[in-house]
Amino acid sequence: MVLPGKGPLCSLKSNIIYKELLKRKLGGSTHIPRISNYLDDTESNNWRDVYQRSHTIPVDTKTKDFQYRFVHDILINKYWLYKWKLKDNAKCTYCNGDSETTEHMFWSCDKSQEFWASVASLLSESTDQGWINKVNVFLGNEENENICNIVFSAKRFLYNKRIHDEPITMLGFKLYTRHLRNLEHYVDKWQNKWDYLTDI
Ligand SMILES: [Zn+2]
Repeated sequence: MVLPGKGPLCSLKSNIIYKELLKRKLGGSTHIPRISNYLDDTESNNWRDVYQRSHTIPVDTKTKDFQYRFVHDILINKYWLYKWKLKDNAKCTYCNGDSETTEHMFWSCDKSQEFWASVASLLSESTDQGWINKVNVFLGNEENENICNIVFSAKRFLYNKRIHDEPITMLGFKLYTRHLRNLEHYVDKWQNKWDYLTDI
């Protein structure tokens, strides 16, 4: 007996509804997300592509979800906690200098800059080091989907380290990417996406 709301027909229907909702969400006039507050010249960004990219490029569901929350600037940080009166101050955990906004956490903090310089050097054989710039790190870029995927994962790594106040090291990042790659190989999906990381 197929229970109401269960079975193949229902999942097919859910899939069609999901696709239709996504199409409607992406179609027409696209909402400009809050991450645009941290970028210059926001007019030049095609936000429809940015939304689409956060659904298509990240390999795993958690990174897709992370990129979605990043674009809408709804990731928890000290800036928000201070605003909600849950912290005494908004200063960055690592440099104890500027307010820990999303922009500071992921880009302008010296600690984040050091991290991105190391990531750029790690990927220098696969891409131009100039690829790692603020817009590409924040929004991604289809020119090299594999690198884009790694950068989205690196952002998630950076965030996990920051919220747990743990050291941000390249060894940690390499272990993290290996864990993700093994996970993807385990489900036997997208494995080619991780070829860039084979020799890291
Ligand atoms: Zn900082």
